[in-house]
Amino acid sequence: MRASTAMWFDKLKENCGVFGIYNHPHASQITYLGLYALQHRGQESGGIVVSDGKKVRGYKNMGLVADIFNPQILKELKGHHAIGHIRYSTTGASELKNAQPFLVDYAQGSIAIAHNGNLVNTVELRKKLEETGSIFQSTMDSEVIIHLIARSEKKTIEDRIIDALRQVRGSFSLLFLTKDKLIGIRDPFGFRPLCLGKIEGGYVLSSETCAFDLIQAHYLREIQPGEMVVIDKGGLRSIYPFPKKRHAFCIFELIYFARPDSYVFGKSVYLARKSLGRQLAKEKPVEADLVVPMPDSGNCASLGYAQESRIPFELGIVRNHYVGRTFIQPSQSSRDLGVKIKLNPVREILNNKRVVIVEDSIVRGTTSRIRIKNLREVGAKEVHMRVSCPPHRYPCVYGIDFPTKEELIASSHTEKEICQFMGLDSLGYLSLEGMLKALSSKADEYCLACFNGEYPI
Ligand code: SF4
Repeated sequence: MRASTAMWFDKLKENCGVFGIYNHPHASQITYLGLYALQHRGQESGGIVVSDGKKVRGYKNMGLVADIFNPQILKELKGHHAIGHIRYSTTGASELKNAQPFLVDYAQGSIAIAHNGNLVNTVELRKKLEETGSIFQSTMDSEVIIHLIARSEKKTIEDRIIDALRQVRGSFSLLFLTKDKLIGIRDPFGFRPLCLGKIEGGYVLSSETCAFDLIQAHYLREIQPGEMVVIDKGGLRSIYPFPKKRHAFCIFELIYFARPDSYVFGKSVYLARKSLGRQLAKEKPVEADLVVPMPDSGNCASLGYAQESRIPFELGIVRNHYVGRTFIQPSQSSRDLGVKIKLNPVREILNNKRVVIVEDSIVRGTTSRIRIKNLREVGAKEVHMRVSCPPHRYPCVYGIDFPTKEELIASSHTEKEICQFMGLDSLGYLSLEGMLKALSSKADEYCLACFNGEYPI
């Protein structure tokens, strides 16, 4: 029997990644590489749309970037401008019709959209649009934006996009491609990142800067919250078409989602995570022999914890990097087997030791509980857990796949109860104040809704 491995990993899922390029002879190949670098942000589907200045065409499919595209497909995607998207579904089912970029022809020509984020008023907008004749091809919230653009009475594409986006609420870092323009735009709260870079006479836009490193683009700056950049043969223009809002950068991008080799919200993700680990060691010290990361997402915070506490750092849990989305399970597969397929504790390191495990989050607690049991089985004398952010008590409505509030263990259990449930000797979360202090940030710069229930929109 083939089983999905997702159920055993109990992690919050990244949302989507977007990449765009203007004026490069190998636009589709560069976009492919950009998406490859952003693969951690979504593994369900991917696509690229290109323009050769006359025609806009695209290809998308289900699966990982390396499986979707081959040299022939990329060769056929001819053009100097391109946008790409990789997706993990947050709204709309996981099926091809919901894969992006979403390309349509309307009265003014062709336009493609790639969206990272989640809109919170699509149900009412969609209902209104359908009542007045719009026919939707997908269940994606992003398609609503396309319909609003097509219906706008404004003359230019820039004004039509602005007109459409003034009607939506929620989080969006968006790329649009027409036959002769690449447009990038970030919602006024700035929930999701979007970065601008330069490459051989052209421009690139990406969810994260790690994509720029791979294609040897030069990182210029972040697209600012509420900013729209229009890139065409006249160069790059920047517009701020929305009323100013407080900023609400998704703090979980820094804690867990983004790659540690990226800059996000102007910060090095690697250093941000180390700093969280250092603060955690100050707030929640423990007597132990070893600091062990929960790989890979706990690596940087563990290093920070170990350096601050001066407890030796060891890679006591080894990750299998080749775990796919499914595997063939023996007749009676257990959850324990699923957990062990991905992460295996090293007996020689852990036996008879007091261990501090550093994690980036506890979602349901079910998987962590099995991992703790596995550590005890190889002889760990004490197992302490430290988490590099506060407890997750509330779901996200801005584009991250969360379980329901009831499923989040911290929404209905105290720290002591979670500690007991997971079979730990002690448990300690980083405080909200400590998290902001470690990031040298203020509460009104970040979205903290999944921790404190205060939703910015
Ligand atoms: S609710 Fe949490 S995961 Fe969602 S945008 Fe806010 S900080 Fe990020």
